[in-house]
Amino acid sequence: MKKHLLLTFTVLFSIAASAQVVETYKKKGYILNFSTNDTTVSKALQQRLISTFFTVYPKLAKEYNKETDKTVYIMLDTTYNGVAATGNAHVRISPKYMKGHPEDIDVVTHEVMHIVQNYGRSVGPGWLTEGIADYARNQFGLNNPAAKWSIAEYKPGQKYNGSYRTTARFLVWVEKKYKKGIVKELDKQLRDHTYTAKIWEDQTGKTLEALGAEYETNPSMD
Ligand SMILES: [Zn+2]
Repeated sequence: MKKHLLLTFTVLFSIAASAQVVETYKKKGYILNFSTNDTTVSKALQQRLISTFFTVYPKLAKEYNKETDKTVYIMLDTTYNGVAATGNAHVRISPKYMKGHPEDIDVVTHEVMHIVQNYGRSVGPGWLTEGIADYARNQFGLNNPAAKWSIAEYKPGQKYNGSYRTTARFLVWVEKKYKKGIVKELDKQLRDHTYTAKIWEDQTGKTLEALGAEYETNPSMD
């Protein structure tokens, strides 16, 4: 039992080593330590990111991994140059990106899915890890339409292993055409490090390559 779990405050304020304020929120057994080193990010946007976490993370945990970390850190970090990244239950998001794309709050959904995934040194391919994270964003995201984010369109030339939402769309297709529940099984085996490419054949009767080729020829969801 970690010491701060015993605290009864719902919101705590403490000063991090970098002298920025870390706000600690607790809800339904989950703890979020939220901070920003960019004071120009509006409180409203910060609040939306925080509430996205508390809405989505318990759902992801319930669906994919009940043992996921109960304590999560999210930081809006001006020193981060990409959109967002996650490691060891710490999410870093670019405040510049968020200010430019304020509707894209499900960046949080994608990133905290990586915490739920917890593949460690994954035995599977990176495109699948990212594809599953976007599959989960498609499934549980709160604001995808307003962010103009979707997996809906297949464009000629897209590969099943194109990562991110390109792969998420392939996963939706496999769930629909071959095996409902395969994504949960893939996720579990990746976490358990029992994943091999053979799982595709076990679950669907077809190799990954055969599924991919069929998908690229006929990507229709109907
Ligand atoms: Zn990712």
